[in-house]
Amino acid sequence: MFASGGRFHFLGWKDGVMSVKAVGLFSGGLDSQLAARVLQLQGVEVELLHCITDPERFEGARVEEGASRLGAPLRALDVSEEFFEVVRSPRFGYGSGMNPCLDCRILMLRKAKALMEEAGARFVFTGEVLGQRPMSQHRGALRLVERESGLDGLLLRPLSAKLLPPTTPELEGWVDREGLYDFSGRSRKPQMALAKELGISEYPSPAGGCWLTDRTFSARLRDLFGHGGCFTREQAVLLRVGRHFRLSEGVKTIVGRNRDENALLLEHREGRWVVQVMDYPGPVVLVEGEPSEEDLLRAASVAVRYSDGRDREDVRVRWERDGEEGGAEGVCPADEEELSRWRL
Ligand code: SF4
Repeated sequence: MFASGGRFHFLGWKDGVMSVKAVGLFSGGLDSQLAARVLQLQGVEVELLHCITDPERFEGARVEEGASRLGAPLRALDVSEEFFEVVRSPRFGYGSGMNPCLDCRILMLRKAKALMEEAGARFVFTGEVLGQRPMSQHRGALRLVERESGLDGLLLRPLSAKLLPPTTPELEGWVDREGLYDFSGRSRKPQMALAKELGISEYPSPAGGCWLTDRTFSARLRDLFGHGGCFTREQAVLLRVGRHFRLSEGVKTIVGRNRDENALLLEHREGRWVVQVMDYPGPVVLVEGEPSEEDLLRAASVAVRYSDGRDREDVRVRWERDGEEGGAEGVCPADEEELSRWRL
């Protein structure tokens, strides 16, 4: 153990040389792999942290493979509870969709800071590239998340470091600034060239952004918030499946698009009406809220529209919720004008 200015740092020894340890936020993608490898080549011992924001979609194997290619220990941490809270009320607002990127980065960096302290590491690094993402990777944003996460001076972005003010690891000589990079912007060509140079040949293609940047998902989430709904794990699942229609102020319906979605909707039927066409194949339609008879008839017309009975006049529809039931006969399909008015 080594004391400096009243603070203690744990230093390791590697091949007879004192090594510095750092914790890196790790997505498994190319940029975070490169950042880690660049530091490893400078003799820094890296430990990786992957923050799981959505356990339903956690690609554990992909992240583990990336870490094992680097030969670095990996911790996967479920931060979903705090992440959902951040999505509900971000301090720094949303991006183009409902993505609270600044708050999300601060959350992850705080976790990295905690691991840094626990693991006896000296700084945190990320694979961020200046200007790559509009909300979270411009100069002001990089500075803001550094400050808000409590990592002042201790947050190194090896891929863009030469374009940013020197950090403590550079000033203290724990890493050589000359061996860092000056990448900026959205092009991935410099990263791909560096990957080739460093012998990194396996990396996933760039992700299209998280689900909160998706336009359709964001519109549905805005609608949920706009109608007093709470963003829960269950809602995160339901907002991603099926076709969504708001039938009236307090009532929304979700229509399964295939067998898997129908099965998933049925798993979430508790407390919701299930509307289904009888006699003809058709989707599972879930109704949320406290629907009036008129709302249920609207949901029935949507169910008929997406069933094989859409051109028939004798269509019967049944609805049921937790033992209560009802239905209607001769239900007409919703027309295009109605659907586009209700669609989310
Ligand atoms: S895109 Fe999604 S996961 Fe990435 S920082 Fe923004 S909110 Fe977080």
